[in-house]
Amino acid sequence: MQENNTTHKKQSLADLHMHSTASDGGYPPEELMKKCINGKLEIVALTDHDTTSGVQVAKEIVEKHGIKFITGIELSTRFKGKSVDILGYGIDSRNEILLNKLSHQLQMRRERMVRMIEKCQEIGMPIHLKDVEKEAKGDTLSRPHLAQVMVNHQIVPNIKEAFNLYLTPGKPCYEVKEEEMTPQQAIQLIHQAGGIAVVAHPIFYSIDEDILRWVVEDGLDGIEVYHRDHDKDAIERFYALASEAEYKLGKRIFKTGGSDFHHESFGREGEIIGKTKLPFEEAEYLFDYITNKN
Ligand SMILES: [Zn+2]
Repeated sequence: MQENNTTHKKQSLADLHMHSTASDGGYPPEELMKKCINGKLEIVALTDHDTTSGVQVAKEIVEKHGIKFITGIELSTRFKGKSVDILGYGIDSRNEILLNKLSHQLQMRRERMVRMIEKCQEIGMPIHLKDVEKEAKGDTLSRPHLAQVMVNHQIVPNIKEAFNLYLTPGKPCYEVKEEEMTPQQAIQLIHQAGGIAVVAHPIFYSIDEDILRWVVEDGLDGIEVYHRDHDKDAIERFYALASEAEYKLGKRIFKTGGSDFHHESFGREGEIIGKTKLPFEEAEYLFDYITNKN
């Protein structure tokens, strides 16, 4: 019997972090989900930034193919001057308080984009809001869209250069975000919408002690231990942090992961969909928890 377990067991794949054109991804939700189907993923979550507008169509498509779908979101927050993303899984995508908050944020993003475009114009770029809107396809106007417009106008050769030269802090067209949620507020927002809250790619923040505190005191439900930007050392570090949190809390927390896929040509390398280091049983644990909860 034991031999059976070791003989070429098919490796099940899950990916709990990806973006569509509903936020700053490169594929509409239906095309993104076709990639998941072709990639033979078994559990999938769509986690667009600050919007759930893509989840319904995504869910319908993958579920027809027997893939387990988790409704997700990635909320932008600010903590100690840093951008900290909080993932929400298993949320009710029609929750009124959540939707109100998101539409307010959308408006703020739009205002920020207008200011960035003004800065572009001030240094002589022939860029207008309608160009960015055309690029964005979805509701969310964000920097990759503006970057693509710069590429279209042959101001820069590629999106990466647009970011390096113009769209990062200190560069001429960058504009800081305003009035963002705190991580605690994001956790509460996700909870009241029936979801579970997970801190995304903690390697970018160096706030391990704070994350521990959020788990123990503020109800943070998990840590994205596995991410395309987490190398072996980072995975060990955040697995250990999750274990410490579990010890303090006296219960298991979620250890999630994903590719953070946007598009093959969107700057960073190594974000191939489904190619994550996430152990399948962690995705299964999350899916089962959410399913049994609702
Ligand atoms: Zn993301």
